[in-house]
Amino acid sequence: MRYVCDAMLGRLARWLRLLGHDTLYAETGDDELLRLGETRRLLTRDIELARRGGVPVIEADGLQEQLLEVAPPPAKPFTRCTACNGELRAATAVEARKAPPRVREAHSEFRACDACGQLYWPGTHFERIRDSLCEWGLIE
Ligand SMILES: [Zn+2]
Repeated sequence: MRYVCDAMLGRLARWLRLLGHDTLYAETGDDELLRLGETRRLLTRDIELARRGGVPVIEADGLQEQLLEVAPPPAKPFTRCTACNGELRAATAVEARKAPPRVREAHSEFRACDACGQLYWPGTHFERIRDSLCEWGLIE
């Protein structure tokens, strides 16, 4: 599923990316959001914008509730950059060398964002996120 989130839903956008969904976070005007919403599902907390886009408004305040409201279909978690929405691929040896030494000792698998170069590895942060997503029934 492809999404576009309004400026009030930055956290939700990052978590949809974690789940592997192509998600734009557009800190932009309503007209641009509506234009992007022609080819993506528009997620907004703005009642007026939701009305113009013919979509339901996201009512929940909390992240978990928002995710359950969106009910994203199964995807490939941890395949997308949370910072920029780029796709992750196996990091090259040169890229992996950018990780802190302690991390390099503990991990052998690194992924890098194809778009912005951000480096990722399965650390404790990753485990916590995976646990939350499982608990909320969003991944197995
Ligand atoms: Zn990136």
